[in-house]
Amino acid sequence: MKVFLKNYGCQMNEHDSGRVKDLLASEGFCFTEEPGEADILLFNTCSVRRHAEERVFSRVSSLKALKERRPDIIFGILGCMAEALREDIFIKLPHVDFLCGPADLDKIPEIIKRVKSGGRHLIYVKARKSGKIPEFPDKRDVGRNAYVKIMEGCDNFCSYCVVPYVRGEERSRPSDKILKEIKDLADKGVTRITLLGQNVNSYGRGLKEKIDFSNLLKKIDRLLREIDKSARNLKIDFLTSHPKDAGLDLFKAMAMLESVSKKLHLPLQSGSSRILKKMNRGYTIGKYKKIVKDFRKIVKGSSLSTDLIVGFPGETRKDFNDTLKALKEILFDSAYIFKYSPRPFTAASKLKDDVPQKEKERRHSLLLETQKKILLSKIRNPSL
Ligand code: SF4
Repeated sequence: MKVFLKNYGCQMNEHDSGRVKDLLASEGFCFTEEPGEADILLFNTCSVRRHAEERVFSRVSSLKALKERRPDIIFGILGCMAEALREDIFIKLPHVDFLCGPADLDKIPEIIKRVKSGGRHLIYVKARKSGKIPEFPDKRDVGRNAYVKIMEGCDNFCSYCVVPYVRGEERSRPSDKILKEIKDLADKGVTRITLLGQNVNSYGRGLKEKIDFSNLLKKIDRLLREIDKSARNLKIDFLTSHPKDAGLDLFKAMAMLESVSKKLHLPLQSGSSRILKKMNRGYTIGKYKKIVKDFRKIVKGSSLSTDLIVGFPGETRKDFNDTLKALKEILFDSAYIFKYSPRPFTAASKLKDDVPQKEKERRHSLLLETQKKILLSKIRNPSL
């Protein structure tokens, strides 16, 4: 049977889609880029922003005619939208056969079997009780770069974020499993590995072994040195770090370990301490700047990127100007800038979404323009 698998969203989803493909390939399925040629159409979805959900609804709707022509075709919605929207998906997209949340992706072959034997509108979701992280077969299709999931879920409950509700509670993979996966990937010729987690700095919480993220980096670096003496050809990146958990231990490990990249993605979200408090981020702008100062002092030749949200409920012009000021002062190497949209279950979705769309767009463009100028001046003057 031929599978069409379309991925939406972040690196974690990209990784999950790759692993689902590996799993299906190991069960004898093959793949096509053409929805019209497929027997099974899977959409691995994202709920982080409303726009991402709208794209999925529009795409899956546009393919409804395929099911009308061939009722045996199987449609599955995977990932965060399955968790967040559940039965509501079947109301809008009745031709979808099953939903499968991120914690059940290893069950997809079994779900497909159930649909083939007559199952309809099946729902595999776990809510916050996600249990373990699904494990996939060792055999995988990789090039020079690969992702390795080290933890999943989040217990931070930032007030705008749906992730804790769709990816479940925070849980980490034991370090021996991570090291084995990295060794296998290095043996297959992978030279750049990105460690993934919603909040990699909390790695290790809840594990029986006593380990934190900087110790995990040390273990990985030791392993890579055994494989490649100088560790010059094997590099480790990681995503994403939460400022409230990023500290000196991490920066010292980044500075000391040759295999670990000097790039840090540290989402600021807002330059206003008042808005950061409403976002439940656990730091002030002053604390964030101190973290950046420590990071740049300790990790030489580093690069820093961030995420920013404009138009959070109650964001005044002054709050926005604080964000603009922070952007100009901190001089990030790159910044991903988003317009706020309310997400289901979240605390912020109960607040009035009171920044008009036009104003959100103005603030968004202004930050983008400012960041573009910062980037140009950094290219002209690399010492900035
Ligand atoms: S740290 Fe906050 S923004 Fe990041 S995944 Fe957790 S709740 Fe969402």
